Amino acid sequence: MSTLQAVRGMHDILPEHMPYWSKLERALCDLFAAYGYSEMRLPIVEKTELFKRSIGEVTDIVEKEMYSFDDRNGESLTLRPEGTAGCVRAGIEHGLIQPQQAHKWWYSGAMFRHERPQKGRYRQFHQVGIEAFGLEGPDVDVELILLTRRLWQVLGLSAVVQLEINTLGSSESRHAYRALLVEYFNAHRDRLDEDSVRRLERNPLRILDSKNPDLKPVIEAAPRLYDSLDEASRTHFSQLQELLQAVGVSFTVNPHLVRGLDYYNRTVFEWKTDRLGAQAAVAAGGRYDGLVAQLGGKPVPAIGCALGMERVVALLQEIGAAPLAERVDVYMVMAGDAALRAGLGLAEQWRDDIPGLRMLVNTGGGSFKAQFRRADRSAARWAVILGDDEVREQVVTLKPLREQGEQLRVAWADASGTLKSLLGLTTSSMT
Ligand code: ATP
Ligand code: MG
Repeated sequence: MSTLQAVRGMHDILPEHMPYWSKLERALCDLFAAYGYSEMRLPIVEKTELFKRSIGEVTDIVEKEMYSFDDRNGESLTLRPEGTAGCVRAGIEHGLIQPQQAHKWWYSGAMFRHERPQKGRYRQFHQVGIEAFGLEGPDVDVELILLTRRLWQVLGLSAVVQLEINTLGSSESRHAYRALLVEYFNAHRDRLDEDSVRRLERNPLRILDSKNPDLKPVIEAAPRLYDSLDEASRTHFSQLQELLQAVGVSFTVNPHLVRGLDYYNRTVFEWKTDRLGAQAAVAAGGRYDGLVAQLGGKPVPAIGCALGMERVVALLQEIGAAPLAERVDVYMVMAGDAALRAGLGLAEQWRDDIPGLRMLVNTGGGSFKAQFRRADRSAARWAVILGDDEVREQVVTLKPLREQGEQLRVAWADASGTLKSLLGLTTSSMT
């Protein structure tokens, strides 16, 4: 019989990978709390219509990457390819996104896109998204960038990521620019690839985002959006840059940064790395002032950013970052039936007496020697030993595994007090 395998592009995250994921997740949770962003949990499945209306019909995602299917009642549903659409949908549906009200939210979870799987590009991947509603910026634009910059600092990744920013202006100024761009690319049609010719008809800005290296020269020489920019967007962009400079954030302006989704306007940004090959973007975001109204809400400005967790984890491994090490205090070795009976009860007693105690209790039996090997591999600081002798005398033997020191024999009645002081477990280490 053939063995079953996971779906192509959808990966298992095994316990051995988790120390890197946990490191990232804990850092993120701490930062969100520190900056005042609240968590939201959103469905994985939404109506297909939501993504068509928000992401845009002529985008890679909607054209060819969505996992869509008909529900049993015939309604088309889609596994979310990104989180902003669902977040805005939920905010409107629950009456939370209102003019003159600010909200700062975050969410995380699996996203699905039918792309060609390769390193750093999967069909199920995980994003953490941050969204701020009701704020015109550019101060909040800077805040999102500062939060992500602090994440790189906390994770030790500052040296391997670089910030690129751009502005897409208002929808009117983009419209004017679009005409210029169509004119230019039409004049150079013979130098475009098939994908770009198709985009030329429907979404010419996306040609600027092409990853085909042959197109680089023709894209480099294209008219710049900045020259068509409306006055208000120009001011917004220069204020953004001034604020970034004032707080010492390094960045480059990339005039070809347009982002893959239709809903962006004004500020767009990406954190890029040269350490992950072609999958260079680790986090990306931008302003989407028109989206709330476009999805049926009142006009409320907004900005958001999403971070690709697989890529950040890959970066942590690439630079040799220390994985998050879980502390283990005690490993309990119990040899014989009498020891097992007494030991299980003692262990529960100590868990009551010592909040925060991290104790591995040997399961599956085994000789003293085998149990000791497990104790050693467990990274526990102390072994607690219970054999026939100990049971008879109602004591336990405590043996240090990591540091020099004497073995101790302690009466059952005193064991939790002794362990507590040996381990130095205070109230602050219990969380
Ligand atoms: P790319 O240019 O690499 O295709 P994107 O512009 O499609 O990225 P976004 O939709 O902005 O990506 O998603 C935000 C982040 O999510 C990206 O910067 C990246 O880190 C991550 N990401 C996007 N698609 C994938 C994927 N298929 N597999 C793993 N991570 C992804
Ligand atoms: Mg993409």
